[in-house]
Amino acid sequence: MVSNRKRVLVTGGAGFLGSHLCERLLAAGHDVICLDNFYSGAKDNVVHLMDNPHFELMRHDVTFPLYVEVDEIYNLACPASPIHYQRDPVQTTKTSVHGAINMLGLAKRTKARIFQASTSEVYGDPEIHPQDESYWGRVNPIGIRSCYDEGKRCAETLFFDYWRQHGLEIKVVRIFNTYGPRMHPNDGRVVSNFIVQALRGQDITIYGDGSQTRSFCYVDDLIEGFVRFMDSPKEFTGPVNLGNPGEFTIRELAELVLKKVGGKSKLITMPLPQDDPRQRQPDISLAKRELDWQPRVSLDEGLEKTIAYFRGLMG
Ligand code: NAD
Ligand code: UDP
Repeated sequence: MVSNRKRVLVTGGAGFLGSHLCERLLAAGHDVICLDNFYSGAKDNVVHLMDNPHFELMRHDVTFPLYVEVDEIYNLACPASPIHYQRDPVQTTKTSVHGAINMLGLAKRTKARIFQASTSEVYGDPEIHPQDESYWGRVNPIGIRSCYDEGKRCAETLFFDYWRQHGLEIKVVRIFNTYGPRMHPNDGRVVSNFIVQALRGQDITIYGDGSQTRSFCYVDDLIEGFVRFMDSPKEFTGPVNLGNPGEFTIRELAELVLKKVGGKSKLITMPLPQDDPRQRQPDISLAKRELDWQPRVSLDEGLEKTIAYFRGLMG
């Protein structure tokens, strides 16, 4: 029996990030309730944890109230890829907003510390570069990305109001593009798309001219940041950026993936989706200072591991 064993709820636990977080929390000796409605996640992501008596998988939608007894809550439930979150945009906003209200209500009743997976999307298409936490963002409230961006912004508002009004212990993290094993092969995110296309010998689809930038963080680095943040002093509420400041154009990423996978794929261009941010790079000074955290895994190394995963998946 581990003396500091906690009962930890991970919403969205069968998703890409959630499944890695569940693994990490079990390894630290905690009891984990993994909650998911399998909208964009899958049982397969956590099937290897099912035999662990300290792991429990619960099918539930966070837009409905939940009654469990827990010490900590990581609220990750929400589709993260544009294809998934735009498929049912009303549900996306409900998941972010009603989901946050329900999980905050649960935290209030159980006095649990609660963590919110927010996003760099709260900065929208930013006018400042790199983005630090004091920047309020430039977000279109009525576009096709708004269900996600504004849903996440409203969830942040709710977290800070529960903190001010009810004294909840909150932890709000703004996650920048993260990649790694267990990304959904068809969710349209750029890293998984490019790898899957290269492995299949299909054309690699660059949206726009490929000069837009993103900064890619490997999943293990991000999860380390999550746990450090959750365990940090209660006065440190965030919001805090977590991501890898290494910035690449989308064309550079395509070339790197093709070089690593090999094969005959061609780079082709397709129309840029509406409201696609031009530039994105986290300023992680706050995380460095408060959490002594910074990413360790280079894009080169992280891509190797992710490519190996997709190779295995696709036989
Ligand atoms: P994901 O789609 O793989 O995981 C999200 C999980 O939430 C899925 O398992 C899905 O089935 C579940 N879910 C969705 N709606 C739900 C609902 N109403 N009730 C219960 N479960 C629900 O995405 P991910 O990349 O693992 O993202 C996890 C969280 O991190 C999300 O909140 C996302 O917004 C945030 N985030 C991720 C990134 C990234 O680069 N991966 C970047 C910024 C923010
Ligand atoms: N992108 C691309 N080709 C693809 C998928 C995405 O060029 O097949 C681009 C997309 O337009 C965006 C960037 O890659 O500029 C990152 O897209 P993703 O959906 O991964 O994340 P987000 O836009 O939310 O950062």
